[in-house]
Amino acid sequence: CGIVGYIGKQQASNILVEGLSKLEYRGYDSAGVAILENDNLDVRKYKGRLAVLQENLEKVPVKGNIGIGHTRWATHGEPSDVNSHPHANNSGNIAVVHNGIIENYIEIKERLIMNGYKFLSETDTEVVAHLVDMYYEGDLIDAVQKAVKDLEGAYALGVINKENPDKLIAVRKDSPLIIGIGEDENFIASDIPAVLKYTRKIFIMEDGEMAIVKENDITLMKTDGTPVEKEVYTVNWDV
Ligand code: GLU
Repeated sequence: CGIVGYIGKQQASNILVEGLSKLEYRGYDSAGVAILENDNLDVRKYKGRLAVLQENLEKVPVKGNIGIGHTRWATHGEPSDVNSHPHANNSGNIAVVHNGIIENYIEIKERLIMNGYKFLSETDTEVVAHLVDMYYEGDLIDAVQKAVKDLEGAYALGVINKENPDKLIAVRKDSPLIIGIGEDENFIASDIPAVLKYTRKIFIMEDGEMAIVKENDITLMKTDGTPVEKEVYTVNWDV
């Protein structure tokens, strides 16, 4: 029920877990992160409190400066380790976090299964990871745009890909999403408190918009590729 993402020079792991802890008020039953370093996309996800994830990350740390995190409020598929987010494609190159519900996931899932995709979870979300994989021909932005065209329902999405270690992609439709603007680092999150320790400069995303978030650059556009100009919102309150 909460998403966070980080790209920059710091270790993503701590920042993601800390950000997720600020979103605990939204409620959740599981938590997970996916962190990218060189050719390694490490996914850790567990049913239960954020502390379960945190303990795992303390025991077996995962290094990397880009990552996405999620607290889940299960809608499709019981709370379990496999059903927790992030969800990956079959080759483990792409990781996705999602808040909301993909209403037409059954028909998409059937189509993907016919195309040879193997599903590991019972979630509606997993279709997104395989769809991005199916549409990926070297351009992650294009693949995400094509994938969301197929989706009906509500989503805030965070997507990372091994082959694009310079960016994370965020998309919004009917689920909250903000971008935190840092210096030599940027953030995505469901809500402002998750990033407030690091920045007060925010882009508030609207439905049908996406952000291509790099360490030193944020590009905003509609999901059809039309450029979007947005004013920076400066947070003048504290939590
Ligand atoms: N529908 C997704 C699931 O059940 C996402 C739920 C959420 O927003 O946390 O996994």
